[in-house]
Amino acid sequence: MRVWIAGAGYGRGRVLDAEEARVPVLDHGITVGDGVFETVKGVGGQPFALTRHLRRLARSAAGIGLPAPDLDLIADGVGQALDANSDIQAARVRITVTDGPGPLGSSRSDGESTYIVAVGEFGEIAPHVDVAVVPWTRNENDVLSGLKTTSYAGNVVALDYARRRECGEAIFANTAGNLCEGTGSNIFLVLDGRLVTPPLSAGPLAGITRELVLEWAGGDEEDIPMAALADASEAFLTGTGRDVQPIRLVDGRALPAAPGPVTRKTMEVFTERGASDMDP
Ligand code: PLP
Repeated sequence: MRVWIAGAGYGRGRVLDAEEARVPVLDHGITVGDGVFETVKGVGGQPFALTRHLRRLARSAAGIGLPAPDLDLIADGVGQALDANSDIQAARVRITVTDGPGPLGSSRSDGESTYIVAVGEFGEIAPHVDVAVVPWTRNENDVLSGLKTTSYAGNVVALDYARRRECGEAIFANTAGNLCEGTGSNIFLVLDGRLVTPPLSAGPLAGITRELVLEWAGGDEEDIPMAALADASEAFLTGTGRDVQPIRLVDGRALPAAPGPVTRKTMEVFTERGASDMDP
């Protein structure tokens, strides 16, 4: 794998073998998880929805007080990294921006950030996913809520909880007892024939797949009590690595259909619209 890296002694960016690329050991992305990231899908060597991803990267950076990332430089790095990995079919483009090794917090200065673009491969999307609800909550009022920071250890612990129960994704409730999101996905339910998803005030990440589903297929944003999971006739997850993926089991209980008619229609609309516009 070849990666693109800028800052950290690499100036405006270089493409290197992943084993050769080095970041300073005192980079705050490593020492305290002070960084932000994006995962972008690469299709035929082109990034999908890059403008939206870069906008969210900038929002996440602002949310933790990182110097504003140079989005043009990163877009260029994404192109170079995809070109350098053109053998990869379903590319998983991981953009990471960290604080670098300078002073922490408000005394940090511009120009010290480390930028990395690494291209891996997405696995095939399974026809459905089983989920487990974790027995602890996600705090929708946390200062990091809704930001895509490199402090994802809580999500890793939750995913591990799900995997130990033979599930592919974990689902969080928020502190109000409402549905929030998965560890790397947003969630939609069909309740009384209506497509609904938690609002951003419930604490989920503003998922780009979620955003596109709401724009292209419709659906309402509303607080959803956890108990409603038992009443859903269908449910699905959205995310860059899974697009729109039907949920089959919730904590071992089968939903009536996976995919049901609303999910199937949403999958079709997403595939069609996504294929006709690489930067929606
Ligand atoms: N929620 C979390 C916590 C995520 O990390 C992600 C994506 O990685 C998502 C939701 C889905 O967002 P997107 O559709 O932009 O991939």
